[in-house]
Amino acid sequence: MANWRRLECLKPERIRKLQDSLLKDFIKYQIPYHPYYRELFKKSKIKFSGIKTTNDLEKLPFTTKESIAPSKQEPKKFLDFILQPNRQLIKQHAAIDKKIKIIFNKKHIYHEYKPVHIHFTTGRSAMSVPVFYTPRDLQMLEESGRRMMDVLNVSDNSVVINAFPYAPHLAFWQAFYAIKGANLLSLNTGGGKILGTEKILRSIRSMKASLLAGMPGYLYHLVRAGKASKIDLSTVELVVFGGERVPMGLRDKVKGYLRNNGARILSTYAFTEGKTAWVECNEDSGYHLYPDFEYIEVVDKDGKRVGEGEKGEIVYTSLDWRGTVLLRYKTGDITNGIYYEKCRHCKRNLPRLGGNIERKSEYTEFRLTKIKGSFVNLNVFFPIMMANKDIEEWQIEIKKRNNNPYEIDELILYVAPRKNADIKRLKQSLKNRIFSETEVNPSIILVSLKELLGRLGMETELKEKRIIDSRKKL
Ligand SMILES: [Zn+2]
Repeated sequence: MANWRRLECLKPERIRKLQDSLLKDFIKYQIPYHPYYRELFKKSKIKFSGIKTTNDLEKLPFTTKESIAPSKQEPKKFLDFILQPNRQLIKQHAAIDKKIKIIFNKKHIYHEYKPVHIHFTTGRSAMSVPVFYTPRDLQMLEESGRRMMDVLNVSDNSVVINAFPYAPHLAFWQAFYAIKGANLLSLNTGGGKILGTEKILRSIRSMKASLLAGMPGYLYHLVRAGKASKIDLSTVELVVFGGERVPMGLRDKVKGYLRNNGARILSTYAFTEGKTAWVECNEDSGYHLYPDFEYIEVVDKDGKRVGEGEKGEIVYTSLDWRGTVLLRYKTGDITNGIYYEKCRHCKRNLPRLGGNIERKSEYTEFRLTKIKGSFVNLNVFFPIMMANKDIEEWQIEIKKRNNNPYEIDELILYVAPRKNADIKRLKQSLKNRIFSETEVNPSIILVSLKELLGRLGMETELKEKRIIDSRKKL
């Protein structure tokens, strides 16, 4: 891996050259160990030596979620995405100066290629896929964590509360390795389900925590509960969201509950297959990438690359990982653009992905009439509900009318309003906004905050149940 201090100030053209050379070596020396791509190159009649620059990547077909996801016929497809060198492949493909070292040194092979750590994807539609890390990958995960703390401008004496749910998911472990990499005092709480909100709040107070990291919905609940029980959260200087998209308006709501006016609220972006997370240095800076770890391109609907700052789908190519690696992987996530010019906040030259990234998977089919279904973008509820100052918590349930599977779909919106909210006005404004954005007319049911927190499973689930689909499949 490159020296971070040098990397962050490399000019864009130097970064491109570095990525070209890393990609060329990666394809030449590592991809021959990759069962899926070895086959794909053969089938598409592309030579390993045919990919010399990041522009040459366009010769390769995309890899999609379906390419990796287990199916009934191939339940262990994911194994084909792990680098698996053997004596013969090493003899054939390894760089001359490395051959002897690799073939005869078990310690080296284990360090570089032995899968030792697993994260699972969490997509709601496809079956989850395991992504494997080798010992070398874990060093990279720690290095990326150190880089995250640097971009976040976290000081050496920060005290961190990791409130990500304890699970074999990237979010918890990235936070763990970031804290470890930066040598910070920390408590890895496992979130509401593991340690419980009350104990986490007491830990923030007694440890004088300055940094909170966790899922947006949970951290909001945490600071609100802290304020309600009059716990002093004034030591918190930085809140870092991860694990899912941050709805517009939530940052302000969280800020409102913290007593420290100068507190910063920043966010990370990641997907399990990318093996690491990227972070903002400022609320509108975008996510700073690691150009020696991955190459990111943005493509339009037809799969053509778009220019700097143009909207499109994020496509990921691994440059220096081992274990599970992917080339031209279509994430399904839509960014408003990739940027190569100097960040105006931190002055780093690293490429950045524009914030406000939308995930395709959150569209769901919805039947407004008995005849045919249409798709409702469930993403739109998050900014509407999270930004509303009169709402404490909310949940959506999709049901069949009268629980009859042949009936049309109904949308029920459970709302815990804030004390002193003008209920009539709140209901009307919600109905209007939701109808104008989704053409669905929800029934709005008011419930107490306590009841809604129970429905959401804030203290009992790994992740709160924001949207429930109770429709029985026919
Ligand atoms: Zn920056």
